[in-house]
Amino acid sequence: MKAVTYQGPKNVKVKDVPAPSIQEREDVIVKITSTAICGSDLHLIHGMMPNMPTDYIIGHEPMGIVEEVGPDVTKVKKGDRVIVPFNISCGQCWYCKHELESQCDNSNPHGDAGAYFGYSETFGGYPGGQAEYLRVPYGNFTPFLVPPDCEMEDEKILFLSDIIPTAYWGVDNSGVKKGDTVIVLGCGPVGLLTQKFAWLKGAKRVIAVDYIGYRLEHAKKVNNVEVYDFTKIKHCGEYLKEITKGGADVVIDCVGLDGKKTVVELVESALKLQGGAMGAIVLGAQCVRKGGTLQLVGVYGTRYNQFPLGDLFARNVTLKMGQAPIIHYIPELYQMIANETFDPTDIITHQIPIEKAAYGYEVFDEKKDDCIKVILKP
Ligand code: NAD
Ligand code: ZN
Repeated sequence: MKAVTYQGPKNVKVKDVPAPSIQEREDVIVKITSTAICGSDLHLIHGMMPNMPTDYIIGHEPMGIVEEVGPDVTKVKKGDRVIVPFNISCGQCWYCKHELESQCDNSNPHGDAGAYFGYSETFGGYPGGQAEYLRVPYGNFTPFLVPPDCEMEDEKILFLSDIIPTAYWGVDNSGVKKGDTVIVLGCGPVGLLTQKFAWLKGAKRVIAVDYIGYRLEHAKKVNNVEVYDFTKIKHCGEYLKEITKGGADVVIDCVGLDGKKTVVELVESALKLQGGAMGAIVLGAQCVRKGGTLQLVGVYGTRYNQFPLGDLFARNVTLKMGQAPIIHYIPELYQMIANETFDPTDIITHQIPIEKAAYGYEVFDEKKDDCIKVILKP
């Protein structure tokens, strides 16, 4: 089968590799119909994770049709349409039973964290979903069975595999409530969906920050938020604090490590300039109000050294973060899409055959060709 493989920093190749087969009694094999590229994949191709073998299959936002099931699978059967969440979760451990599926105790044999498709040996070593077929472990818990009467196309529901529940978790976990002022750092796919959910949770003011012109325009036009280019405002953090009269109730960082730099460049720039690798988190620390919440959705996956802990402590800021636990949110969010309370499709700018994955990575990474979100079609 064809699959997108990691070949070293900034180098992905579509290769012919053996198709997966059933290994455990609860496994499911899914024939992928659509599979998206995520900002988290960009961290991988920038070399954020040390444990990325050459030829490792990446990708964690797929959906498709069940091709085969192991003998103990009762939740789905051949022919069913399923969405595969990026969390790989057993459904039985304390974390899975307490809405923290991203910290499943049983799925990651390699460390004290959860497991994710296509996200290195550190996070379980499972092959990813940018491929024609995917092995999904824990078939009685992990996959979401799309209701058989669903007439929606893949495009409407595919992002339930990650960024819709991730964005929702960001506003839920940070406690956004009616009347709040919310600052969302980043207007990539995750930031744009987070802005929508901030409104839906009743925020009275939503402010978005980025430096890519077409993404700021999209945020303003489609999400009706106030937008600021942080490269064009001197002391942007202080400025945001001023216009929000002391800072936002909640700041949600949907950036993480700077998407454009390799880890080596990040460490170098962090040493050189205030910000650098820490750009978004420093900005967030500056524009959250005293007693407010700074929520990290963007991934910080490597060493960094300018963390403003003293400032956050002095100002009683609550800091929350993590890999989003998404599985328990999917049914309710599916309903919101089905009843048209929520529509994620405006962020889709590219749908291309999987053979052209390298081009998809290039435009998404370099923010070229007005790219916001890329879907690969096996
Ligand atoms: P993306 O790269 O498309 O978007 C990031 C955006 O942030 C870009 O538009 C970029 O221009 C902007 N940006 C860069 N530096 C900034 C700064 N200092 N201030 C404001 N904006 C800045 O990626 P995405 O797909 O939207 O993903 C965003 C982040 O969310 C990534 O770090 C990704 O790994 C993370 N993520 C986390 C989870 C989770 O479970 N926590 C799940 C999915 C994605
Ligand atoms: Zn993702």
